[in-house]
This record gives sequence, structure tokens and C-alpha cells, in this order.
Amino acid sequence: MGRRGRCGWRLICFAVEYIEVAEDLLLGGNIMLHIGCHLSSSRGYLAMGREALSMQADTFAFFTRNPRGGRAKEIDAADAAAFCDFAAEHGFVKLVAHAPYTMNPCAAKENLRVFAREMMADDLRRMEYTPDNYYNFHPGSHVGQGAAAGIALITEQLNAVLRPEQSTIVLLETMAGKGTEVGRSFAELRAILDGVELGEKMGVCFDTCHVWDAGYDIVNDLDGVLAEFDHVIGLERLKAVHLNDSLNGCGSHKDRHARIGEGEIGLTALQRVVNHPALRGLPFILETPNDHDGYAREIQLLRS
Ligand code: FE
Ligand code: FE
Ligand code: ZN
Repeated sequence: MGRRGRCGWRLICFAVEYIEVAEDLLLGGNIMLHIGCHLSSSRGYLAMGREALSMQADTFAFFTRNPRGGRAKEIDAADAAAFCDFAAEHGFVKLVAHAPYTMNPCAAKENLRVFAREMMADDLRRMEYTPDNYYNFHPGSHVGQGAAAGIALITEQLNAVLRPEQSTIVLLETMAGKGTEVGRSFAELRAILDGVELGEKMGVCFDTCHVWDAGYDIVNDLDGVLAEFDHVIGLERLKAVHLNDSLNGCGSHKDRHARIGEGEIGLTALQRVVNHPALRGLPFILETPNDHDGYAREIQLLRS
């Protein structure tokens, strides 16, 4: 290719960049921020979609069943289909469903592990009513068996329930390291991922409160933390962000969420998170202690 060819190629690149910038400006500058919050699923999918839209969200999170109990009511197929149309019409991005807290894949008692496995398998079956979304779960608490034993049990459960034909991607949540939680370091999450046979069905959800509480300083060194994530796990595995402030200090291992700007992480650091190029395009989910209006305000604040 001669000089002309190279020049032509550069012109095309420039034109593409120009179109992207112009598009951003046209649509309010923050077109790339996909944000929502945790919503109650008691009135169904379409109701959640409408509520999200009313607060200018284009994604949301919800519990797949009662977070403290086990029973789940069967999905209303018509409601799920109506939501899928609604989401496509309004440009929603992937949802980040949340597994119940009672699900502990690395419990010491076998009956609790069976319960966890059945719950996850049933949740993943029901997630297919709304295909191509994320299912996030807390890896679990090893309750004294040790992190290595916990990691082995978690991978065992994932290998038992993941199916090649599922459209849902399962996310491990980064944990604060409260008690005997597994997933308190990027290395522990990497070890779980390494044991999963259907690795392409797996990803990670980065919870800002948990990561901070675990001892990763996202306030003073966000670049360094994300570089470490990339080195240990790989940024291509990072699929979603839980955006929370924290009531406690870095390394406190407490896991108490605060409203955006009202905790130890602070608004400036959380704004840097939503604007970081490595996280661009991911769904950001607020799990702050808020009601509808509080969430709507936080979404507006972060979009501005
Ligand atoms: Fe969580
Ligand atoms: Fe979270
Ligand atoms: Zn938390």
C-alpha cells in the first residue's frame, strides 16, 4: 500500500472518531453511562422496567427470589415477554439480577449446598425468560473450612449447574471479606474462574463498597486497582459494577453501604469510577440505602 492508501485509512479512522464524538454530543454527552438501581420485583418485570425508565435508568437489579428465603414464584411468561419488548424499545442494556443471600455454595453442611445448587439451577432456568442478562451471586462463606476448600465447593456447584445452551452470564461479586466470605481478593475470584469448565458463561461484578472494604484503594489509586484486576483476572471478565459508597474505611471488611457521596469513598472517587475508560459501557447498579426518589437523584447526579 502506497502513501495514498495509508492516508486514506487514517482519514477513515478520523471520520469514525468524529462520528462517535458527534453522537456523544448529540445525545447529551453521557451516552456511554448505563446506570440503574436495585428494584423490588414484587410487581413483575414490566413494572420494574417502567420504574427504571421513570428514573432515567437503562438497566436495573432485582432479587431473583426472596433474598432471605428460598421459595420463588413462577415467572409470568407474558410479563417477561412484555418487558423484553419494552427494554428493546427503550434501549435498555443488560440487567444484573442478584441471587438470594441465603445461597451458600460452600456451606459446610451438605443439605445447605444442595439447597444452594438447586436454587441456582432454578434461577438460571427462570432467567431464560428474559434472555441475555447477568446473574450475580456472592461466592459464599466457607464457615471455617478455609478459602481453598470454599473455592473448590463453589467451582463444583458452578460446574454442576452451568449449561452450554444458557444465554445468561453468571457473575461472581467481589466481596468485602466480612467473616469467612470467599471472593475477598481478586486472586480468590480468579481461582474460582479457573475451576469452571464453561468459563465463557462467567464474569465478575465489581462492587465499589466491597472492593474498598476489602482493602483496594479506589480513592487514591483507581488506576492501580484496575490494573491489578486486569493482571489477576483480566478486564474482559469485568461485566458490571455495583456503585456504592461505604460507611467504613479501606480494608475494614465491614460491608455497610452508604449513599453516593455520603461515605468514605466519596463523590469524586465514584465519579472517577463511572468515567473510567476501562469501565466504559458497563452497567452500573446503585445498591445504596435509598427510596425511589433518592435513587432518581443519584442517577441524575451521576449522569450530570
Ligand atoms: Fe451483592
Ligand atoms: Fe453488591
Ligand atoms: Zn454489600
